[in-house]
Amino acid sequence: MNSNKPIRHICGLSGGKDSAALAIYMRDKVPDMEYFFCDTGKELQETYDFLDRMEARLGVKVTRLSAQKGFDHFLEMYNGFLPSPQARWCTIMMKIKPLEEYVGDDEAISYVGIRADEDRLGYVSTKPNIKAVFPFREDGIVKEDVMRILDESGIGMPEYYKWRSRSGCFFCFYQRKFEWVKLHENHPDLFAEAMKYETEHSDGRKFTWNQGESLTEILARKEQIIKEHEERAARERANRPNKTLVEIMEGVLDDEDDTAPCAICHL
Ligand code: SF4
Repeated sequence: MNSNKPIRHICGLSGGKDSAALAIYMRDKVPDMEYFFCDTGKELQETYDFLDRMEARLGVKVTRLSAQKGFDHFLEMYNGFLPSPQARWCTIMMKIKPLEEYVGDDEAISYVGIRADEDRLGYVSTKPNIKAVFPFREDGIVKEDVMRILDESGIGMPEYYKWRSRSGCFFCFYQRKFEWVKLHENHPDLFAEAMKYETEHSDGRKFTWNQGESLTEILARKEQIIKEHEERAARERANRPNKTLVEIMEGVLDDEDDTAPCAICHL
């Protein structure tokens, strides 16, 4: 550890709403904050556009960090096993390691955008020189506050929020089935690319992004998946007339799948 250097203040942006709101919230409180984004090279164009918008509006630079090798290299290294909630090698190799290399041995405080109304753990580095802090949790900032912060800043929500509520790779296995169907509608080329990763291996092994259902099968059920989602959304709208469309979609998707999203990629 280099004790002569000043402590670094770092704030990771995932391309999602909470980390974006935290960057806005902290900008004047910590003027020497370093903003970074760990780019897997498999992100949505909407995410890159959102980061550009943040840089322009906030007048800050967002350093893009990348692993030295790309996803396909690591997939081969992991013997073709697609990552999953139980085996999240993608997060380790493509998000955590690049961040830890970026910080090196410097002492750093990492600002993490977990909200006060969430029950999940954020990235807490195993490196003793990186200390995580949670300003939203400490200050009681909840989802409504995040929406307000984004709105008042003029930055707003990332564009993909019209059809998907979690940031991250286009093929992220944390996507709900409705989001896969919408990926197909919005980015058919990316959906086709995700499908290619599911092809059978020569030794007969077959991996899917979703437990128990391949993308071909999801696509075949497209109409049913959309219909079920819309029925739930209509019920949600009737029960909570004050909610915005984004909040309705997010609420319905969370009800469909309550798996806690990745606290590094989906912030
Ligand atoms: S967004 Fe999903 S697929 Fe991409 S690195 Fe994070 S957990 Fe892995």
